Amino acid sequence: MNRILFEHGEIIDGAATIDDARAEHILRVLHGEVGQTLKTGEIDGLVGTGVIAAIDGARVTVRLEHRCEALAPWADLILAPPRPRVFKRLLPQLAALGVRNIFLVGARKVEKDFWGATVLKEENYRPLLIDGLMQAGTAALPILHVRRNLRKFLAEELHAALPSTRRVIAHPYATGGKPADCGNAAIAKNDTLTLAVGPEGGWTDDEVSLFESHGFSRFSLGPRILRTDTATVALLACLSQD
Ligand code: SAH
Repeated sequence: MNRILFEHGEIIDGAATIDDARAEHILRVLHGEVGQTLKTGEIDGLVGTGVIAAIDGARVTVRLEHRCEALAPWADLILAPPRPRVFKRLLPQLAALGVRNIFLVGARKVEKDFWGATVLKEENYRPLLIDGLMQAGTAALPILHVRRNLRKFLAEELHAALPSTRRVIAHPYATGGKPADCGNAAIAKNDTLTLAVGPEGGWTDDEVSLFESHGFSRFSLGPRILRTDTATVALLACLSQD
């Protein structure tokens, strides 16, 4: 945890008292003592520093001073979800890397079972996203949306929901089979990215054409087929604006 984040409702009169994994991290890893300054923030709010005001056994009270905007997210993801186990591994990394919206879409090769997975309940996925934010030291919580009808989502919602300037569909088989050139593909400052990543069985040709008809360009990281979580992290790094 590089920044301890608090829910809005936990902050009362500028201070928060916690006794969970965050408190344990402050006490065990940061060797917290009264008076010590920590990097802190409010989920979907400002970030800054906090000073440990009191320690009572496993309970820690932190007095907060949040003055800076958190880093702004810079990418949105359209994901045809993999197995829940892989999806759970991916979630903290999406939050850490600066993804704002995660649209989970149906595609032909998505396992039907996925849509009933327990990780789709907010109480289960939210802590995983917050872990990623605390790791990266930022505070803008990704928003998860489920849209099982891909065609309808692209036709009716995409342009209003994700008005990004650069749209990319990740597919190992880019036109002409050319390896990707990160330099050319990297997005310019102030651009936002919408990245579409396929299911474990891959996008069908029809799905790739459908994305192309909505302004997406194919992008390949090369001929190695990567697992969804590895591919998504590598794609975001490759396409990032930094
Ligand atoms: N068997 C599938 C593999 C899918 S991997 C196939 O042959 O297409 C899951 C998703 O990760 C892919 O749909 C793609 O969006 C992304 N991905 C994996 N490896 C990639 C690569 N080398 N380049 C671009 N995208 C990749």
